[in-house]
Amino acid sequence: MEDKLLESEFLRELGQVSDLRSLQELKAHYLGKKGIITQKLKAIKDVPPEERKEYGQRVNKLKEFIEAKIREKEEEIRAHLLDQELRSGWVDLSVPLEPTLGALHPVEQTLRRILDIFISMGFQVMEGPEIEREDYNFDLLNIPKEHPARDMQDTFYVDKEGYLLRTHTSPVQIRTMLSQKPPIAMVAPGKVYRRDDDPTHSPMFHQVEGLVVDKSVNFKHMKYTIETFLKAFFEKDVPVRFRVSYFPFTEPSAEVDIGCVICGGKGCRVCKESGWLEVMGCGMVHPQVLRNCKIDPDVYQGFAFGMGVERLSMLYFGIDNIKLFYENDLRFLKQFM
Ligand SMILES: [Zn+2]
Repeated sequence: MEDKLLESEFLRELGQVSDLRSLQELKAHYLGKKGIITQKLKAIKDVPPEERKEYGQRVNKLKEFIEAKIREKEEEIRAHLLDQELRSGWVDLSVPLEPTLGALHPVEQTLRRILDIFISMGFQVMEGPEIEREDYNFDLLNIPKEHPARDMQDTFYVDKEGYLLRTHTSPVQIRTMLSQKPPIAMVAPGKVYRRDDDPTHSPMFHQVEGLVVDKSVNFKHMKYTIETFLKAFFEKDVPVRFRVSYFPFTEPSAEVDIGCVICGGKGCRVCKESGWLEVMGCGMVHPQVLRNCKIDPDVYQGFAFGMGVERLSMLYFGIDNIKLFYENDLRFLKQFM
């Protein structure tokens, strides 16, 4: 009878509890070190031996009942709290999850697009070291020691004699011609280094160069290849023009311009009011360069071209400062995800 009274008294008190703190107090009141149930369990020593078993079972049953009720109440209170939080907007489970996945850098995206176009035209992708032999970077490309191009390109030299940070990816063309027999159709992507630093130049930038060597290769093949590439890259029928230029490793040489993709040729700040944008250099491989690579220029001819990946990326995405690519500013980078 005493147990029944205790049970109903507990249930009455439990009914008044509405928060976790008072539930905790109630729990201590019954099950704590000096709690009612704990005291009853301790009192077993005062119970006559023959009644102890029955007494113990009774108190334990009561204890289990109280524990279960308290757990039940705790779950009820927590569910209620969560419901309140949801209603007050603390946790909005309807917000779509935004996984913080990374994305490809815009320069890498551009580089991959460039390579995909050349791969579709049957070009092979070749790579070479960024710390390059000086003769591969200059001498074999028909740029001898006293040649002004060596000053023009303002090279970063390294401590090891005869090595430098490559100033263009052209040495990969040399490496390819030295190791493969024509026909050759290759593109070389990669980082190059020059002592340039202003809003349109960075001391490190990316280039893609291309080389085709075969029997009876001529300027028309080059023109067709470059025009096809530019139309695929800019995804429209851009006007293309070739201007006479000079490079030590090609003869004849040309600069390639496209009709300004920003103003459509009317003239703007980006094209300096000319309506044209310079996008790459090209030319027929100089016979001496072929000879340097043990290829007979009387049998084989070649053409080569080179472009800056940042430059094409800036024109494609409409970016006016090359520094934005290297500042790691997420507000900039997230626009290209
Ligand atoms: Zn323009």
